[in-house]
Amino acid sequence: MRIYKKYSGIIVRYDNIDLSLDTSDYDTDLSFISHAHHDHLPIKVNRLYASRETIVLSSLRGFKYDTIIEIDKNLRMSNSGHILGSKLLMIKDKILYTGDICTRDRGFLKGAEPIECRVLIIESTYGVSYFKFPNLNELVNEANRIIRKNLDEGRHVLLMGYELGKAQLLTYIFKNYKLIIHDRIANINALYKNLGVDLYDYEALPLSIAESKNILKKEPQVIISPMSKSFEKNFKSKYNAVSIAFTGWAMSNRFDNYDYALPLSDHADYYELIDFVKKCNPDKILTFHGFTKEFASSLHELGFDASEISNDLRLDEFF
Ligand SMILES: [Zn+2]
Ligand SMILES: [Zn+2]
Repeated sequence: MRIYKKYSGIIVRYDNIDLSLDTSDYDTDLSFISHAHHDHLPIKVNRLYASRETIVLSSLRGFKYDTIIEIDKNLRMSNSGHILGSKLLMIKDKILYTGDICTRDRGFLKGAEPIECRVLIIESTYGVSYFKFPNLNELVNEANRIIRKNLDEGRHVLLMGYELGKAQLLTYIFKNYKLIIHDRIANINALYKNLGVDLYDYEALPLSIAESKNILKKEPQVIISPMSKSFEKNFKSKYNAVSIAFTGWAMSNRFDNYDYALPLSDHADYYELIDFVKKCNPDKILTFHGFTKEFASSLHELGFDASEISNDLRLDEFF
């Protein structure tokens, strides 16, 4: 049994099978894709294990896979709470891999549930104690206060987030404003609807149509937008507008160059990660992404056997 890092992802070798987890390395027997964010997608695969939503959302982004397996006796998926269709993977009932994970319920997304395991491979994007995200209701109230103030003062409001995942959550949470949707996001929203998640109960206008109808010249609007500085700049050159960036990094200074930044994250914060680990109660923990060293050392202090994932790790004692 070996677990090691390769490119942006991880390889698990068991029973003479190389299983790749979210890596661009496609030269393995089997690939698992936890969700459809770009940094997790290989350009091709030999055989793929992934959720239906992940396969559909990946194809919209130009990643098409043909050899898909639906059942494998060694593998089991469950909700990871990060975006639509995102999954945790249990390998041989022993190893749990989280991909990107969020344990908080948000809008139409349910948080991930912990599962007892022997080895836990867990992301640590926000794995330092500084990251404690606010309660969702408080955050939404704060956003509503900012939105209303700016609309009242005649400014458009750009609600900005990653195109896949965050933008759909923003659409859902703020649907009470008659939203205008950036065209690329409108395409993804339509796909969510096909996948059974109706984000609004009205016909939201794509931005290009709203512009062609001069709607933005008439009244201040709320627009769901990608997290893009160039889009924001271009938009502000035409209209009086403010931007609100929605990301966990709003707690750092990385998003200080937006008018407002609020920590609405699709990842677990430090405390939620710790809680998840405790409930999984593993014998061995491997951390990946972000604060790998820091999070492993926090877990170590709590009495866990934890380290960041390395280029070659043998775990024969577990199998
Ligand atoms: Zn992701
Ligand atoms: Zn990711």
